[in-house]
Amino acid sequence: MKFYAADKQVRCLHCGGESFSSRQVQLNTWFATFLNLDWLNRRATALECTACGQIQWFKQKPTTASEND
Ligand SMILES: [Zn+2]
Repeated sequence: MKFYAADKQVRCLHCGGESFSSRQVQLNTWFATFLNLDWLNRRATALECTACGQIQWFKQKPTTASEND
């Protein structure tokens, strides 16, 4: 599935792939603090590249291609 963030298509930083699977992740406070990611507000969306497995994190859930039409 393709995703868009800020009107720009998300591409894998590693392999340049355009297909991802997403999952909503609840971050424990201690975990967010440990990673200095308090701005994540305990919830984030992880996009996993279906080709290589690279994971990208988004604070706001990226839109899918179908939602963008
Ligand atoms: Zn990739």
